[in-house]
Amino acid sequence: MSDQTAAPSSTLGDLALSLASGAIRVVDLTHTLDPDFPVIILPPEFGQCARFRMEEISAYDHRGPAWKWHNFTCGEHTGTHFDAPAHWISGRDLPNNSVDSIPVEQFVGPVCVIDCTEGAAADDDFELTPEVIIAWERQHGEIPAGSWVLMRTDWSTRRGAAYLNMREDGPHSPGPTPDGIRLLVDERQIRGFGTETVGTDAGQGVHYTPPFPAHFYLHGAGRLGLQCLNNLAQLPPTGAILIATPLKIKQGTGSPLRVIALVQEER
Ligand code: MN
Repeated sequence: MSDQTAAPSSTLGDLALSLASGAIRVVDLTHTLDPDFPVIILPPEFGQCARFRMEEISAYDHRGPAWKWHNFTCGEHTGTHFDAPAHWISGRDLPNNSVDSIPVEQFVGPVCVIDCTEGAAADDDFELTPEVIIAWERQHGEIPAGSWVLMRTDWSTRRGAAYLNMREDGPHSPGPTPDGIRLLVDERQIRGFGTETVGTDAGQGVHYTPPFPAHFYLHGAGRLGLQCLNNLAQLPPTGAILIATPLKIKQGTGSPLRVIALVQEER
């Protein structure tokens, strides 16, 4: 008979102890699903993504005396959400390219957070370029293959119209340049890329070659996207683990989801 108290330590056992003691903290990187939360607005000739809507089925009343529940509707790309490779034409013929078929191990990985808050505060159209990425790496080390990479801008603190930041010529928000996202996808072999804005691309991303380069290069290479992230200020530049599990929608191109990170508390 094995003695439980003398069991050899295991990685998962250590993790459980660290979670219980608070040595590892769970951070919520998700906005609340709410009808008021903005969704991307495309030019009027295109189809549009639906906002979140919720209706009461019953609330401990004649419609159901002991229970409360709701029906809800929304787009796959509403609120804090996940982009699968099938979302973009560059990824449409890849194997396992939809949320139901992506191998689940792809959802979990180490996360690097590139702080672009100063640049984004000075310029709504701030660009994540190779120069910005390499400057970050000089401080924190090269981005390991298989990492989630998040672009922190503090855009998540914006509310209402300031979030989409629409002007005469369309939305203005920060994002990666074609060279910036190609460095991450092709050279660093990242798992996925996430932003605090409504898309993985800049508001003016249509004007790059190719248009919407983050979508084009990420999904063309089978990589993942996250957007409308929250609380990135609570993450260290490196060392946290990010978990992003979309709903298992048959042939879904994306999904609202709860994104969490495991963060080691500083001693
Ligand atoms: Mn999306």
